[in-house]
Amino acid sequence: MYSAADTRYDSMPYRRCGKSGLKLPAISFGLWHNFGHDTPHATKREMCHTAFDLGITHFDLANNYGPPPGSAEVAFGEILQSDFKPYRDEMIISSKAGYDMWSGPYGEWGSRKYLIASCDQSLKRMGLDYVDIFYSHRFDPETPLEETMMALDHIVRSGRALYVGISSYNAQRTREAHAILKELGTPCLIHQPSYNMLNRWVETDGLKDTLKELGIGSIAFVPLAQGLLTNKYLNGIPEGSRASQDKSLHPSVVQKAIESVKKLNDMAQARGQTLAQMAIAWVLRDGGITSALIGASKPSQIVDCVGAINNLEFTPEELAAIDAISEE
Ligand code: NDP
Repeated sequence: MYSAADTRYDSMPYRRCGKSGLKLPAISFGLWHNFGHDTPHATKREMCHTAFDLGITHFDLANNYGPPPGSAEVAFGEILQSDFKPYRDEMIISSKAGYDMWSGPYGEWGSRKYLIASCDQSLKRMGLDYVDIFYSHRFDPETPLEETMMALDHIVRSGRALYVGISSYNAQRTREAHAILKELGTPCLIHQPSYNMLNRWVETDGLKDTLKELGIGSIAFVPLAQGLLTNKYLNGIPEGSRASQDKSLHPSVVQKAIESVKKLNDMAQARGQTLAQMAIAWVLRDGGITSALIGASKPSQIVDCVGAINNLEFTPEELAAIDAISEE
């Protein structure tokens, strides 16, 4: 029987998500990798326990997480049922629809038909009455944005989700989505973009400033560049790592960045942090990002990442040095 740690709210900071009433933990946990049939259930359970015991109240999923697609939601549903039932109201659970999920013309992108059916499927897989946040996972260039946003609005009004968000929409599309949702009366709570020291499109595109201006919260995915911004690859590509399995991180990406990563690792050590901790602190550094959304393959990685909260401050000199290394 799992019983949550009494200390779970002792150290994690909770940050307001935009101009909403909702606070998110500075570090959230995502189930994109290592929650499919390729990972023992006991490991998945242990990771969820470790996260929750450390104050990570937010668990992020999507319809297609696995492999196979859907299996991460099934696994998480089992963990909710066996371990987290008494804690449902302490948790923020999200899901998304946008990527390829089932055959035919209604199994991906942003139509009302797809989003509502997919949300129902996700709820069923997880054994939930509602998710806390439901996202449009990607902008659909062929579906009118009004239709996608009206589907999100309907998902909230029908009780399937408490809040809605968008993921990977650029600044312009975000403005449009925000305006439509505002008119419909369902605010855009949150945006989920990729963001880390080596991937700064949210800055160059103007998205980060746009979110601040519009009062939309933000949760940065891949803050560790899928593990590249940790000490994992300093001496080559270890067995069992994401790059060794060529899942979504190609070995050539690791090889190309490794000299910069080594310099960043030296900086992290000088700050008394691991590189993973510095990478997370960097994403959270100026308050522009509400939460850093990490993944993990074992519980000890989550413990390490949560250590980031012990030092979230940077000097201007450190920030300039990180900029210089990242641009190399
Ligand atoms: P990260 O950048 O946090 O990478 C996680 C990986 O880094 C782990 O699987 C592990 O690699 C390694 N790692 C984590 N902590 C440590 C540590 N302390 N020391 C050494 N290595 C470590 O993010 P993810 O790519 O996992 O994505 C996070 C979440 O973001 C997803 O689960 C999902 O919820 C969300 N996401 C959203 C997307 C969207 O389109 N909205 C797209 C992608 C992700 P290894 O497995 O090799 O051990």
